[in-house]
Amino acid sequence: MLLDYAKINLKIDVSLKRGVKMSCIFCQIVNKEISAKVVYEDDKVLAFHDINPQAPYHILVIPKKHISTLLELTEEDKDLIGHIFLVMKKLAHELGVAERGYRVVVNCNEEAGQTVFHVHFHFLAGRGMHWPPG
Ligand code: AMP
Ligand code: ZN
Repeated sequence: MLLDYAKINLKIDVSLKRGVKMSCIFCQIVNKEISAKVVYEDDKVLAFHDINPQAPYHILVIPKKHISTLLELTEEDKDLIGHIFLVMKKLAHELGVAERGYRVVVNCNEEAGQTVFHVHFHFLAGRGMHWPPG
C-alpha cells in the first residue's frame, strides 16, 4: 500500500514538473498513455485522427506543450503556432487535398464549442464546407 502511494506521488511530481495537467486527455495522448491514430509527430507537435470525424479528413494538430485555450497563448508561442500551420500545409499536400481546400478551426471556450481544454487545431477536408459555420 505504501509503495502504491509512493508511485502515485512520483507520477504527480513528474507530471507537474513537465507542466502537464494530469486530467488532460490530449496530454495523455502526447505521453502515449492512451492511443491515437497519429499521422505526424515532431518534438513540438502531434497530429492524429479525430475520434469523431466531421469530414472525410478530420485531423487534430496539437502542441505537445499543454496550453488550455487560445487565451493562454503568450509571445513565446508565436513560433509554435506558425509551425502548426506549416504542419497542416504539409498534411494537406500529403493527403492530396491542398488544391481542393481545407478548413482550420480552433474553438476557444464553451460558447465556441471547446470541449477539450488543450489547444488543438481541427484540420478538416475532403468535402464541401458550409459558410457561415454553425
Ligand atoms: P473541441 O470540441 O474543439 O474541443 O474538439 C475536441 C475534439 O477532440 C472533438 O472533435 C473530439 O471528437 C476529439 N476527441 C476527443 N477525445 C479524443 C481522443 N481520445 N482521440 C481523438 N480525438 C478526440
Ligand atoms: Zn494537455
